[in-house]
Amino acid sequence: MAIETMRTRSKPSSPALLGRFGPYGGRYVPETLMAALEELEREYEKARRDPSFQRRLDELLRTYAGRPTPLFLAGRLGRQLNGAKIYLKREDLLHTGAHKINNCLGQALLAQRMGKQRIIAETGAGQHGVATATVCALLGLECVVYMGTEDMRRQELNVFRMRLLGAEVRGVESGSRTLKDAINEAMRDWVTNVRTTHYLLGSVLGAHPYPSMVRDFHKVIGRETRKQVLEAEGKLPAAIIACVGGGSNSIGIFYGFLKDSSVKLVGVEAGGCGPALGEHAARFSGGLPGVLQGTYSYVLQDAAGQVANTHSISAGLDYPSIGPEHAWLKHTGRAEYTRASDQEAFEACLLLARTEGILPALESAHAVAEVVKRAPTMKKSAVIVVNISGRGDKDIGILREHLDLNGSAGTLARERDGVQ
Ligand SMILES: *Cc1c(COP(=O)(O)O)cnc(C)c1O
Repeated sequence: MAIETMRTRSKPSSPALLGRFGPYGGRYVPETLMAALEELEREYEKARRDPSFQRRLDELLRTYAGRPTPLFLAGRLGRQLNGAKIYLKREDLLHTGAHKINNCLGQALLAQRMGKQRIIAETGAGQHGVATATVCALLGLECVVYMGTEDMRRQELNVFRMRLLGAEVRGVESGSRTLKDAINEAMRDWVTNVRTTHYLLGSVLGAHPYPSMVRDFHKVIGRETRKQVLEAEGKLPAAIIACVGGGSNSIGIFYGFLKDSSVKLVGVEAGGCGPALGEHAARFSGGLPGVLQGTYSYVLQDAAGQVANTHSISAGLDYPSIGPEHAWLKHTGRAEYTRASDQEAFEACLLLARTEGILPALESAHAVAEVVKRAPTMKKSAVIVVNISGRGDKDIGILREHLDLNGSAGTLARERDGVQ
């Protein structure tokens, strides 16, 4: 469906009301889910305005998740790149190792408030499943996580971790046995059990109100960063860089600076191993507008409109669609989007590990790869903030395989010689 038709039909005036970001977003779901989404929207609006809900969420973010996270001056990395001053927003230090806990705590508290004792979620690599299982244990909620059996095989440790936390992991055998099949199964469950069950979606995707609600739960990242960078530097940064899977950590940090037109907002997608369809997950380089899983945004698709396969070294960026608000930020030019390849992310990961003693998640390493390209071209007085969305412990296996492919001894020596 062309953007123009969408725009005239939906006449977006208040995105909050219609769930639209320009022409993007919306609520493309079967009739049977409409009531559930309307209830969720209503209840979320009430919770959002309720000081006691916000107080409880803030308290858990502080005492359980570990907020505020530090803003760290990466001095050795900055000197090595010989350009802009680089700060890292340390979301990797949060409980469960990534920003995902911000959203999981928010939605689980909301479910509890709505009287729903059962949580379902979908997971690809297992990171969202683990964060969901964690908050369900914390709040005493029943937890069922849908996961493709191919992903279960690849992420055995996370499956075990979820089970340790008391969650039930249900394997999905249909389709390619990966994330999109797990989402379809979770939707089916929700339709059947909607009265007792909340679907805890993991990124700024899906039908309205999810993209706005999940964004709101991550805005704390940008709020903290803005305050911290002003304290440290007495001025705003020239650029904010974040990786974009579904788009939640990036939209969270972008929102703190959306109205500061001098601050460049840069999203980094997965460039994978090549430019052909199927080799990457760069929706803005190879995708077209379309509807996937309840929302209208950019989708990687073939000529017939069938959803394309994607590839990335990092599971968290490996998804054929992107949050609809990002499509709008790109459309208006407020944010720019670029890509980093598997190899660039891998090298950036090693570089950060060896210059700063921080092993980032491979997702976050895509943002680091962009700072490696950009910082040397900038003035020394300029400041860049990179969002380190998560830690790299989960990626040790992939990193080891990749080092072997690169010839581990050679790569290690070269890297060591390059970083003094
Ligand atoms: C899940 C994940 C991502 C990608 O999700 P977004 O919604 O784009 O933030 C990025 N980094 C880490 C560490 C993740 O776990």
